[in-house]
Amino acid sequence: MEYTIKTIGVLTSGGDAPGMNAAVRAVTRAAIANNIRVKAIFRGYEGLMAGEIQEFTSQDVSGIIQRGGTILKSARSKEFMTPEGRKKAYETMQREEIDALIVIGGDGSFTGARQLGQEFNVPIVGIPGTIDNDLWGTDSTIGYDTALNTIMECVDKLRDTGTSHERLFLVEVMGRDAGFLTLNAAIAAGAEAAVIPERTTLEKQLETAIGYGRRKHKNSSIVLVQEHSVPGGAQAVAKTIEELHPEYDTRVTILGHLQRGGSPTAFDRILASRFGVAAVQALLDEQRSIMVGLQNGEIVYVPLSKAIKQKKDIKDDKWEALQVLSI
Ligand code: ATP
Repeated sequence: MEYTIKTIGVLTSGGDAPGMNAAVRAVTRAAIANNIRVKAIFRGYEGLMAGEIQEFTSQDVSGIIQRGGTILKSARSKEFMTPEGRKKAYETMQREEIDALIVIGGDGSFTGARQLGQEFNVPIVGIPGTIDNDLWGTDSTIGYDTALNTIMECVDKLRDTGTSHERLFLVEVMGRDAGFLTLNAAIAAGAEAAVIPERTTLEKQLETAIGYGRRKHKNSSIVLVQEHSVPGGAQAVAKTIEELHPEYDTRVTILGHLQRGGSPTAFDRILASRFGVAAVQALLDEQRSIMVGLQNGEIVYVPLSKAIKQKKDIKDDKWEALQVLSI
């Protein structure tokens, strides 16, 4: 290698996710353990361009493993998407003597990171942090397990009131372009059906699932709808059902940003801790433009290009399980 890494910059970018703090803590402490300085960059790429930076000690990350959100704050930055913006970011890195960058975020954040790495020959390691779990190359992203549990608990609560009033609840779930949260929450909460972008839920299937439940005198029906699976989300699905079956007492619940918050689960804390340590190790091993991931319980390194471009698919057995278990 032409140079040694003496200082690492760390930032969180895109949507916040529970467990990001645990990852920041792990990066900081793993770096310090290897005699590398850590500079915390606030407000994602916006802060990198503006130079909102503070050197972190081990104490700066104490008491944060259990906290949701991100103490570094996050931002979405249009300017960073331009070559001029990325040049500004690189100038900050030079000024602050940051030799390498660890980016905790989703595919958008990694796309930007990869460009910065290519344009200015900067080592970049990505840590997958998004509740959507939509990154190829890792079985789970930081925040996904917590969000899944939050959704499951919300649906359990809706089931109580749904049962009392014999209602059909349509619950809108986040996920950008991916249906992982929706499908898995549907299985975990015992929902009647899920509407996700990766699979077509024909009106007929939906009717069958709900109608079957009614014929069997099920007290309530719950259908989880991924926010972008159909134009208009859960409201649109409700409208269709009401037109077909005005006799159904249909209610829509949009979980919204509730899904993003809360203290991370043990799974997410452990995952984030492992990812943070592995990301620092990757830089020590002279890796660049890679993402740390988890496959079959093991830490893996995958090229950022693949993590961004390849699509992770829904498992067929889960989709089939939901169909079988809902009747
Ligand atoms: P989440 O999945 O939680 O939303 P994300 O990382 O995908 O996380 P985005 O809003 O897509 O979130 O991206 C975060 C930031 O990354 C953007 O605000 C922008 O600054 C940068 N970014 C996204 N796409 C690009 C791109 N094509 N080129 C350069 N930078 C990008």
